[in-house]
Amino acid sequence: MKFFVSAGHPMYKGAAGILDETVVDRAVVKELDLVLREMGHIVTVLNSESAKDYVEEVQVANSSSYDWYVDIHANCYHKESANGVETLVYADNKPQAHAISKNISDLGFYNRGVKTRTDLYILKNTKAKALLVECFFISNQNDCDLYNKIGPKKIAIAIAEGLTGEKYKSNVTVIEKPVNTPSQVKPTNDNWVRRLQQECNMQGFSNQKVDGYPGPNTLKGCPIMRQGARGNITKLLQEKLINLGYNLGQYGADGVFGAATYNAVVKFQKANGLTPDGIVGQNTWRKLLNL
Ligand SMILES: [Zn+2]
Repeated sequence: MKFFVSAGHPMYKGAAGILDETVVDRAVVKELDLVLREMGHIVTVLNSESAKDYVEEVQVANSSSYDWYVDIHANCYHKESANGVETLVYADNKPQAHAISKNISDLGFYNRGVKTRTDLYILKNTKAKALLVECFFISNQNDCDLYNKIGPKKIAIAIAEGLTGEKYKSNVTVIEKPVNTPSQVKPTNDNWVRRLQQECNMQGFSNQKVDGYPGPNTLKGCPIMRQGARGNITKLLQEKLINLGYNLGQYGADGVFGAATYNAVVKFQKANGLTPDGIVGQNTWRKLLNL
């Protein structure tokens, strides 16, 4: 599915309670973007600096076709007692909205359910199905304490699962077998594709011919990698980056996807016209494989 995701109040500061709404909105959106992409969906995050108002925001979203427009907010009220999650829709014909409120309430927030709002510009004017999540109340101490405890990623997962009806299962290769032999040697390019094919087969990401020639099956068999991954595929990724001239710092190709590898990936992505998010997905692998 294709999602257009926006953090509330892109063009000015949102409500300020115990926590700052704009900060919360952006933190949740950042995780929602990663989670949905890890689940295999296509996500466009509104560049908050580029839209001057809601009218323009909706124009951007309507210029392409999306399945969903998701607007992320946090609620604020002058009475501290108000608390919990609610999802706003133009018409209450979206079971996904109920699922989102339910999933977030399962994290410990009070479930205020789904509210119909016909007065909100975004909900009214987007071509895509739209909903707005008020994740919790930044004016309520308990809500803020809970948010500080669980962090934005759990909320993002709750939203993503509610939207898609799918279970979030990170397919990041943190389950890779650890390597014990850090390599400081600048590796040669010989055999790199062959070893990558072999390793992807061994770890169950692919079942492809190991022939040293990169093709669509090689690409398909490469897992999504991000900071925190460790193992032989990480090591092969690092070897390739070193070979291409990127500096991985003192540890070299050690099989641990840390900050140096992240920085090298971002540089590689920038140099190749890719989104510089530090996540090695299909587009980045394609360039690494020279496909
Ligand atoms: Zn708001």
